[in-house]
Amino acid sequence: MTDLSQFVRNGKKIIGVAANYKSLLKILERPVPELPEIFLKPTSSYITEGQPILIPHGFTVNQEIELGVVIGKKGKHISEDEAMNHVGGYCAALDMTAPCRMKEARSKGGSWTIGKGFDTACPVSAFVTKSKIENPHNVRLWCKVNNELKQDGNTNDMIFTIPKLISFISQYMTLEENDLIVTGSPPGMGPVQPGDVIEGGIENLISFKFCVSQ
Ligand code: MG
Repeated sequence: MTDLSQFVRNGKKIIGVAANYKSLLKILERPVPELPEIFLKPTSSYITEGQPILIPHGFTVNQEIELGVVIGKKGKHISEDEAMNHVGGYCAALDMTAPCRMKEARSKGGSWTIGKGFDTACPVSAFVTKSKIENPHNVRLWCKVNNELKQDGNTNDMIFTIPKLISFISQYMTLEENDLIVTGSPPGMGPVQPGDVIEGGIENLISFKFCVSQ
């Protein structure tokens, strides 16, 4: 079995999932999608604890706490029944997002690449082995900014479960060892500023702390 603890160094892609929490769609008054809406973040956007989150000049940037799923076994056309066998472990991740760029992309039909993929847009915790989470569809995700609780969600609120995501993505893209799927964010994302401290994690399992810089 591959050592997945170095997934940040060895992974070839980060796949994000947009609006995957029922409670978030309710707030946004958007209908529940029939299929997952996915996007890519480059692996150059990874940072680990000790490295600062850097806000690109002129951007507003939101924090989004998410459950990260690290792929442990390569596959294509993976069935939902088989999907959990391809999971190697987890991490807590921040899908840092520049809403200014997303808005422009949505209105002008542009891409999400810059808004989701700028350097430092994917802070992650250390790797957690699969066996540490008995049921990944019932874990509490939390995120504080400057010690104030901003996000408090549970993965049981996901629209598309991990098997559904793995099966869907792998119809189109081969999933490989060390790839990461960031599975969507519960409500409460909001702009962060240089000087802010973002803490977050998976309750009773793992947490992280990142500082926002300029
Ligand atoms: Mg997100």
